[in-house]
Amino acid sequence: MLMFRKKYLLDRKELVYKEYRLSLKQKLARLSIVLVVSVILAIGYGMVFKYLFGSPREKKLQSELDEIKYKYDLMAKDFETIDLKLATIATAEDNVYRPVFDMEKIPSSFRQSGYGGTKKYADLEGYENSDILIGATKKVDELLRRTYIQSRSFDDIIPVASDWKNKLDHIPYIRPVNVNIPLGEGLKFREKHPVLGTPRWHHGQDFTAPSGTDVFATGAGVVTRAGWSPFGFGNMVEIDHGYGFKTIYGHLRTVYVSAGQEVVRGDTLGLSGSTGISSGPHLHYEIHYNGMIKNPLYFFNDELTMEEYNEMISVLNSNSVDN
Ligand SMILES: [Zn+2]
Repeated sequence: MLMFRKKYLLDRKELVYKEYRLSLKQKLARLSIVLVVSVILAIGYGMVFKYLFGSPREKKLQSELDEIKYKYDLMAKDFETIDLKLATIATAEDNVYRPVFDMEKIPSSFRQSGYGGTKKYADLEGYENSDILIGATKKVDELLRRTYIQSRSFDDIIPVASDWKNKLDHIPYIRPVNVNIPLGEGLKFREKHPVLGTPRWHHGQDFTAPSGTDVFATGAGVVTRAGWSPFGFGNMVEIDHGYGFKTIYGHLRTVYVSAGQEVVRGDTLGLSGSTGISSGPHLHYEIHYNGMIKNPLYFFNDELTMEEYNEMISVLNSNSVDN
């Protein structure tokens, strides 16, 4: 092996080769040079490595920090999405749900009210990335608070909406006879009643209908009268719809329902006729709200054109049958 080969030098006096040996001092000097160079190289390599790559621990921490910052960026985008969705829900609530149900808006100052004092975030101060931490924590607190307010607000709206649906099912909201049947006389004061010949209020809306036409319940409710009327309505039906509403259907030829019976909108109550104080076949229809007579025309879901409206008015003003 090369490293263990002995060295020989020519002895010029004796003219022979003699084994060459280093003195101890020379050996130590050489060793110390090797050591110093090794240490310098080690430090140099270490510095270069650290400069280029960092220590393994630092490298690990740096990569964790990069990952956290990346995740924070993703989270901040999620915050924006949630923020936008909450704002959309709040706008819909203020402009649609609450006005439809006749409920007051939530004051925007309440929606945007404080998200806790500054003390709350004191623990997060003094770090290199404190601003990121505090910003994220504040945003989470704000979103939680807005979500809570929104949730409580829906708790208020849901029972109102549910009751509203029930109310819509009950209030009189269709014509009591087929829509193609022309309207007769409406709500007005009559100088001369067509049968009685005396001045009298007409409290309902007449529909000129051939005898035997189906008469429908205009909303859900309970039948409170069914049979002969002492007030000149002939065979009549009265329905209590709740919510302050009552309807009356007069001059029927036949009555299909009886008092105490529950009906829903569209149920057939009987057939139209000309019973009671009547000068010809027609249906007399009344709506009462909290004891007051209401004009049934406001309770039909028809959307009349101006032409149809004018025609309706002229029909209303022409002489017609009855009570
Ligand atoms: Zn009438």
